[in-house]
Amino acid sequence: MYQSFIGLEIHIHLAAETKAFCGCKANFGDEENTNVCPVCMGFPGVLPTLNEKAIQMSYVVARALNCKLSPNTKFERKNYFYPDMPKNYQISQFAEPVGRDGYIDIEIGDSIKRVRIHDVHFEEDAGKMIHAGDMSLLDYNRAGYPLLEIVTEPDLVIGEDAEAFLKSFQRLVRYLGVCDGNMEEGSMRCDANVSINPVGVGLGEKVEIKNLNSSRFVRKALNYEIERQSGLMDNGTKIIQETRLWNENRDQTEGMRKKEDANDYRYFPEPDLPPFRPSDEFMKEVEEGICELPLVRKQRLMTSYGLGSDQAEYIHDEKFMADFFEKAVFLGADAVQVYSWLSSDVKKLLNRNSQSLEDSNLSAERLARLISMIEDGQISGKIAKRVLDHIFDEDKDPDVICDEQGLVQISDPAAIAKFVDEVMAANEAVVEAVRGGDQRQMGFLVGQIMKVSGGKAAPAVVQSVLKEKVLG
Ligand code: ADP
Ligand code: ZN
Ligand code: MG
Repeated sequence: MYQSFIGLEIHIHLAAETKAFCGCKANFGDEENTNVCPVCMGFPGVLPTLNEKAIQMSYVVARALNCKLSPNTKFERKNYFYPDMPKNYQISQFAEPVGRDGYIDIEIGDSIKRVRIHDVHFEEDAGKMIHAGDMSLLDYNRAGYPLLEIVTEPDLVIGEDAEAFLKSFQRLVRYLGVCDGNMEEGSMRCDANVSINPVGVGLGEKVEIKNLNSSRFVRKALNYEIERQSGLMDNGTKIIQETRLWNENRDQTEGMRKKEDANDYRYFPEPDLPPFRPSDEFMKEVEEGICELPLVRKQRLMTSYGLGSDQAEYIHDEKFMADFFEKAVFLGADAVQVYSWLSSDVKKLLNRNSQSLEDSNLSAERLARLISMIEDGQISGKIAKRVLDHIFDEDKDPDVICDEQGLVQISDPAAIAKFVDEVMAANEAVVEAVRGGDQRQMGFLVGQIMKVSGGKAAPAVVQSVLKEKVLG
C-alpha cells in the first residue's frame, strides 16, 4: 500500500487597477501591447515602484490564510530567459515573503481538513505567447501584472482533496474581492506536486504537473499521476523528480523536463526596490479587508437560520448571495422560503438571462416583499412566479407589477362562485359524473376554474365553493 502527498502552488491575479511596478493598466482583453511602458518592458535605467494597493491585497490574503505576516517584506530577482519576459528576470520574493506558516480549514466531503500554507509571496506575471501556425506572437499587456503565489505544504492526499481545496480557495479570494478566481481565463492558475511512498516512509520524489486550467483537470491529473507512480513503484522502477504536463485531450500527464534541466534562477535582491514595511495604518486597512470567511459563514447560516448543509452550501457559495439571503430574512421573509426561491425560480431566470444575482433586477427587498405577498394571501405562488418574471424583465417592485398587471389573487367567494358556475355550465356531463361518485373528475373542474380565472383564484376557496355547489 502506498501513501500519496500533494502540495499546490496557486497563482492569482490581484484585482488591482495597475500593474505591480508601473502605472500601466492591469486590464485583460485590451488590444495587444497597448498597456506597456518602459518599466514593464524592462528598458535600461527605469525604476520600478511598488503598487501599494496590490501589496495590501497580498497581506489580506496572507492574513486570511492565518500566516505570520512579514514586517519587512523583500523583493528578489528571479532570473530566467524566455520570450514572454521582456526583462529576462521576474521580480518575485524569496527570503522574506509577505506571509508564511499559515493554514486554512477546508471542507472535504463531510469533514474539515486543515491544510498548512508554506508561504504567500508577491510577484509579477509574464506576457502571453500566442502560437499561430508557424508563428509565435507576443502580447506584453500581461507582463508586470500583479500576481500572488500561494504555496501549500504537501498535506493533501488525493485529487479530490486538491479539487476541494481549489474550490474553497477560489471562494475565499472572491469573498475577499482580491481576484475573480477564474481558472479558465487564467486569473487563477495552479501547479500541482505529487509523490507517493510505501505507507510510513514519508514524502517521495515529487512530480510537478503544469498546464492545469480547471480544478477538474487538477483532480484528474493528480489521480492519473498517483496511479502512474504506483505502477512504477510496483515494478520497482525508481520515480524521478520531474515536471510533467497535463494533456487534456489524452487524459494523461506527459514528461516535460527532468530535474537536471531545471532552471537555476539565481535569486538575488532587487536593487531598485526597498523592502516594504507595513505601517500601522496599512495593517489596520488589512484587518478591515478581512470579512467573515466562507466556511465560518456557511456554519453560521446553518446554526442561525436552520439551513441544512446542502442549503447553506448553495447560499454561501457567493458572498453576494449570502448577503442577499440574510437581508431578505432580516426583512421578515422565512429563511427556507428565501432559499427555495433563490435555488429554483431565481436560479432559472439567472441562467436564462446569463446573469449574476448581483446584475439582476431582483433585490433582497423585492424578494422579501414577494414572499410576504404570498403569505398574506395577496397572490398565489403561481402568480408570484409571474411577478418574478416581470421583476427580472421590467425592473419594478412587486406591488407595482401586481397593480399594473392586475395580478392579485381572487379569494372573494362570491367572485369565485361566478367562475365555478361558468365552468359547471360548460361541463355538465362531468358534473353529473362527480355527483354519481366519480371524485377523480373534481381535479379536472378545479383546473378549468383556475384557467378561467387566469390563475388568480385562490385554490383553497375554489375547492370549497366547488364542493359546495356540486355536492351540496
Ligand atoms: P521546489 O523547490 O521544487 O519549488 P518546494 O519544496 O518549494 O519545491 O515545494 C513546492 C510545492 O511542492 C509545495 O506545494 C510543496 O508542498 C510540494 N512538495 C514538496 N515536496 C513534495 C513531495 N515530496 N511530495 C509532494 N509534494 C511536495
Ligand atoms: Zn508598464
Ligand atoms: Mg519552491
